[in-house]
Amino acid sequence: MEEITVGPTPVEIKRAEHNSGIHPKLVMAPAPELRQKSEPININFIPQVQDGWLVTMIEVLDACRKAGIHTNSISAPQVGIKYRYFIIDSPALSIGCFNPVITKRVGQFQSIEGCLSFPRGRFYSVPRAKIIKFHYTDILGKEHSLKLRDRYAAIVQHEIDHLDGILMDDNGLPCRE
Ligand SMILES: [Zn+2]
Repeated sequence: MEEITVGPTPVEIKRAEHNSGIHPKLVMAPAPELRQKSEPININFIPQVQDGWLVTMIEVLDACRKAGIHTNSISAPQVGIKYRYFIIDSPALSIGCFNPVITKRVGQFQSIEGCLSFPRGRFYSVPRAKIIKFHYTDILGKEHSLKLRDRYAAIVQHEIDHLDGILMDDNGLPCRE
């Protein structure tokens, strides 16, 4: 029988474009999933989700780091999970935050930011509150209130924006690092 070569199917091509990030589960802009508002999570459900979610998010974060991207944080919608959760994993601060809410904002500065869901090397200058106070629930269901400033305040604002379907190019201007 004659062998027929048909090449990649349209679905395969679409998938390859969508997955042009470092890890197949990393959702890249302009995917519509990144524009949806994420749902709050029921506190009683937290212990059951921790394995799957955390493993996926940390896997993606590690894959990005192995690829040479300097990153300290990721939000659930960036791996296709539509709940209000993000992690910051850095030497100075390591937290996982369910249902984060900013309760106080003081001052303003221009924060230079990149994003795992944007092509590598793309940076935006985004106006952020200089000092924030925010509330969150940890993986054990315990509530916390934390005051952060400058870079870490900006990271939290960036990640909470993801939970609201807001990306850095909405309020920021392209810039060099
Ligand atoms: Zn981002």
